Amino acid sequence: MRLILTTIAFILIASPILIASPILIASPGWAETESPDHAVIAPPSCSNNLGESVLFKERNSDNAKFAAGMARRDGDGNPVVNRFNFDQAPAPLQAFIDLHECAHHQTGDIDRPHPPRNSPEHLMNESIADCIAILRIRDDARYSDIDFADVATSLGEAMGTAGFPEISISSRVSNIRHCHTNYASAATFVDGVLTERGLK
Ligand SMILES: [Zn+2]
Repeated sequence: MRLILTTIAFILIASPILIASPILIASPGWAETESPDHAVIAPPSCSNNLGESVLFKERNSDNAKFAAGMARRDGDGNPVVNRFNFDQAPAPLQAFIDLHECAHHQTGDIDRPHPPRNSPEHLMNESIADCIAILRIRDDARYSDIDFADVATSLGEAMGTAGFPEISISSRVSNIRHCHTNYASAATFVDGVLTERGLK
């Protein structure tokens, strides 16, 4: 079974701790104070490129101060997204993580060879997943109360708290802003990716 450990932060030039850990989103205030818990939003609908439904599963630990997501196939081969400690992230960031992880299923990343961490191919996969996520937030009525700025702010704050340099944050926000401003629907974007990969 292959496992793709995907993270919300795709530019992994920050620190060895962050590179080594799947947990890349820090909740503001995690280091010193007890973070207020956030209500956990309902997961999105999600199917992979083979038409299989993706299940979202809560994975919480009592002392964790990070929210993160992981897309994979479980031990039975079913496509899943594990949601780690989502109560540590505000709703816009929860939505973005959910849709980013879903995108790894939509684009077939989960069933493809996993490129080396931080390779151009890996960063491209992460950039694509971010793009699909922000397009779904832009277009899906269920996220109509989430603005681009909500996502950019919560993502930037979380990455900043986690120790990512400003250049990593700004380049990531710049990518999703570009997608949000210029691209058509997420479905069209996914179709293009699958076609290019010979998966459609
Ligand atoms: Zn990812």
